[in-house]
This record gives sequence, C-alpha cells and structure tokens, in this order.
Amino acid sequence: MSIVKILKCKNNECKAWVREEFATPGQTCPMCSGPMLRTMKHLPPLVKKVKSTSR
Ligand SMILES: [Zn+2]
Repeated sequence: MSIVKILKCKNNECKAWVREEFATPGQTCPMCSGPMLRTMKHLPPLVKKVKSTSR
C-alpha cells in the first residue's frame, strides 16, 4: 500500500474525495460542492501496464 495525498469532503455523510494531484486550487466537493480537507489515504500502488516496447 502507498500513502496518497488526497482532498476529502468535510461532510461526514459524503464519501467524495479526489487525489491532490488532480485537485484544482480551491477545490470543492464534486458531489456536494462543500469544502474539502487535505488528508492522506492508503491506496494500493498504481499498476502501470504501459510498457513501451520500442522496436
Ligand atoms: Zn461532499
């Protein structure tokens, strides 16, 4: 597992979150338009299958 910085909705009833790298300045919740909180999340590492085989 790897730790990823995310922005999480402050509303406990709302499960929305976005990766910080995809967030915009002043990011608001995509679901309830509420304020978001910077936090961390444990996520499985991204598996990159893209392996460019150059010929
Ligand atoms: Zn929300």
